[in-house]
Order: sequence, then structure tokens, then C-alpha cells
Amino acid sequence: MAESYDVIIIGAGVFGSGIAFELARRGMSTCNVDMHAAPGYGSTSSSGAILRFNYSTVAGIELAWEGNRYWENFESYLETTDERGLARKITTGHVFLRTDEQLYQLYLDRLSETGVPHEEWDSTEMAENLPFLTLDSFGEPCTLDDDRFWADPEGSIPGGLYMPDAGYVSDPQLAAHNLHTAAIAKGGQFRFNTTVTKVLTTSDGTAVTGVALSNNTEIHAPVVVNVGGPFSASVNDLAGLSGRDAITSNPMRHEVHVAAAPTGVDFERDGMLVNDQEQGVYFRPEAGNQIFIGSADPECDGEDWVDDMAVLNREITEERWNIQMMRLAKRLPGFGVPHQRKGLADAYDVSSDWGPIYDRTDLDGFFAARGTSGNQFKNACVASHMMAELIVAVGNGHDHDGDPLVVTGRYTGAQLDMGNFSRNRSVNPDSTGSVLG
Ligand SMILES: Cc1cc2nc3c(=O)[nH]c(=O)nc-3n(C[C@H](O)[C@H](O)[C@H](O)COP(=O)(O)OP(=O)(O)OC[C@H]3O[C@@H](n4cnc5c(N)ncnc54)[C@H](O)[C@@H]3O)c2cc1C
Repeated sequence: MAESYDVIIIGAGVFGSGIAFELARRGMSTCNVDMHAAPGYGSTSSSGAILRFNYSTVAGIELAWEGNRYWENFESYLETTDERGLARKITTGHVFLRTDEQLYQLYLDRLSETGVPHEEWDSTEMAENLPFLTLDSFGEPCTLDDDRFWADPEGSIPGGLYMPDAGYVSDPQLAAHNLHTAAIAKGGQFRFNTTVTKVLTTSDGTAVTGVALSNNTEIHAPVVVNVGGPFSASVNDLAGLSGRDAITSNPMRHEVHVAAAPTGVDFERDGMLVNDQEQGVYFRPEAGNQIFIGSADPECDGEDWVDDMAVLNREITEERWNIQMMRLAKRLPGFGVPHQRKGLADAYDVSSDWGPIYDRTDLDGFFAARGTSGNQFKNACVASHMMAELIVAVGNGHDHDGDPLVVTGRYTGAQLDMGNFSRNRSVNPDSTGSVLG
């Protein structure tokens, strides 16, 4: 007789583990299945784990603000301990350089609307707070083979938008482990080194009944959740759902790099998260007085879509390393490009408008938290709470497609309208078309 559960969760990353915890604490029996050997070994382990609040929609900002509170209260939220210790939030602050006036004003308006703390810094305040950064203006991002990359600066950047509460989570893989441990403490079960090979449905194909596994067994449940990260499109395919949603998501390769801070600069203590749209990069302090650097997806770099996750190149390339280092060097004059390359490559699960899908699907009982687009680690806990509320509500007969569920934020009390994260929403017209969302 096949084992059965209330809910099967495909994936045990930060989302899968978080959803297991939220469902198990509601008294439901859960089983996560993951092809990796341990929780958080998928794209979660590659995450920059940055917590920031500048999103292009009010709903995006409110979600990130609520999400941040989970990390600030992580220990009490988990209601358990983990022998490996707990991931923790490191608050650095964040400055968004005033390079793109339209985007700057959009963030200013949206942040003001939500009441998330922020300040406008002029060039004097920028120099006082980040003396090791140059405000020279270099025009739009370009690649190293473009003469404009090497041209002298023209003018200077007038300031930036400062958000004091931003930061990052110390160890994203540990965060997933913590959530997995908290789920187990509430009765959740996990199967590792096991791949879901098929999504099982009723004979008329309208409702999910379970999954088939790589060990040639089946497990059954009336609810199955797709939290496959960059594999989420292929998991949706297993359920026969390709082409059904207005918003799609697919894996896109990205590299992140780590380099030593400039000599004489204590970037770990004095630095903060910086978004530099002129150079097409973001960077933040990393333990050991290092700098963690990611791409803000400038158009000139193109898009690296991944057809087959099984053959994703996980090595960092000389080309990407060189361009990111040279871009950073233009903003941090004392920075010396290291000879030794350090970093990693993985895939974001990029949606049509770089915003997440937290929703049910057209197959009854089959739910998905996907399209996290390189910017939703921060929201894993709040989104897990929303997904659990959605699963319970739909199980009780709620028509989520007709009347989108509104979930009350556990910490801020914000009314989080899940219609904003629907698979069938209109594409966000204010999307940056980048990791910024
Ligand atoms: C390089 C990089 C940098 C990032 N930086 C940030 C950041 O700074 N801030 C931020 O907020 N977000 C960031 N993100 C995004 C964030 O890390 C992700 O949104 C988040 O970790 C996704 O978690 P997940 O649990 O959905 O996916 P994953 O962690 O990828 O987990 C999915 C799991 O599903 C399993 N799986 C898939 N298919 C199957 C199957 N058929 N059978 C069994 N198991 C299966 C996989 O093995 C995997 O473990 C970044 C992402 C990347 C890649």
C-alpha cells in the first residue's frame, strides 16, 4: 500500500522547507521529496540572500517588509533549535544610487506609500557615509569591448536612496536547514536523493493524487506543491500544465562573485548593499572583509536562458568575472582586481515580469511557488505562510481564481493580496525586467 500524506512538496529548498513547516504547524502531514542529499542544496545554496525593499510595486515592497520581520524574529518563529545553529540577519543598510531618475522616483513614491523607512541622500551625505565610493558618472552600462567603458566620467551622481533596514542572511543553506528542522519538529517528513518522475492525477486528469518517484514507488496526497526552484517549469510539465499559465518561468544562468575589499577599507564594517545601475551591478559586504558582487542584468549583457538544467555550467567564466570586477573597480577606486577567481554560477527561475508566482494551478490540488526570479529568498517565510493559508482555504472550497485570497501578515498586519502573485496576472508594467523585480 503506497504511503499517503495530506501534502507532498516537490523540493526542499528554502521554499519547500518553509512550506513544510507552515503546513506541519497547522497539523497537516507533509512529505518533501528532493533529488539532492539535504535541504537547501539547490539554488538556495547559491543565493546572495539579500534583504532589500525597493520593488516596483507596493505589493512587492509590503511582501519584502513583512518577509524581513521573519528573519529578524527567526529564532522565535522556528519554535525549535537546530544543532547546526541558526542563520541570522546581518543589517547593513542599502543605498540605491540616483542614476536612473525614473526608477529612483518610482522607488521613492512606492516606499513612501508603504511607510518603509528610507532617506534621500545628497552627494555630501553619500561621501560622509561611503567615503570609499566614487560618485563619478559613466553613463549607461556597457561591456568591456565597448570604447565607452574606458571613457572618462562625465559629471557625477547626485546622491542615492538609503534604506537602513536592508541586509542579508548569513547562510541561506543553513536557513533552509533550520526550516526543515522546524518542520520535522512539527511532524514533517523528508525524502532526499529521490526525484519526482511523474505527477499522478485522477483518471479524468482534473485533480492531483500523488507523485511517482525515481525508486519506482508512488506516494499519494490530495495536495502537491511545486517548489522546484529553477526546475519548476519541468515539474509543471510533469503535471501536464505547460502553456496553461499567463505568467511563465524558466531558468536563467547567473554568476555571483566574491573579492577582497580595497586595502584600507573595512567594507565588512563600513560598507553596505549598493545598487549601481550605471555599472549594472549590486554589491554588499561579505564575511572576511570581502565584497559579494552580482549582476543587475543590464541589457548589454544579454540573457543566458538554460534549456537543460542537467547541463548547466556551474563554473564561473573568465569573461563574466572580468566584466564584474572591472565594473566594481570603476565604482570603488581603490579596488584591485584579484588574480584568483572566486564565485559560483546557478540559475534563477525567471518569470515573465521578474515577480514570483504564489498560486494554485489549473490542476485541482496542485499548487506552485515559483518564478522567484533571483529576488525572493527574502520572502521565503512569508510566502510559505501565504501558501499554507491558500492550501487550507482552497481545501475549504475557496474560489481563489475568482476571489483572490488576502492573507494578513503575521508581523506587520499588512493585507497581502495573493492576486498580485497570480499565475494569470497581467505582466507588471513597471517591472525593471531584471533581478530588481
Ligand atoms: C545566484 C543566485 C543569487 C540569488 N540572490 C538572491 C538575493 O540576494 N536575495 C533574494 O531574495 N533572492 C536571491 N536569489 C533567489 C533565491 O535564492 C531563490 O528564490 C530561492 O532560493 C529559491 O528557493 P526554492 O526553494 O524555490 O528553490 P531551490 O533552492 O532551487 O530548491 C528547489 C529544490 O527542488 C528540487 N527539485 C526540483 N525538481 C525536482 C524533482 N523533479 N524531484 C525532486 N526534487 C526536485 C531541487 O533538487 C531543489 O533542491 C538568488 C538566486 C540565485 C540562484
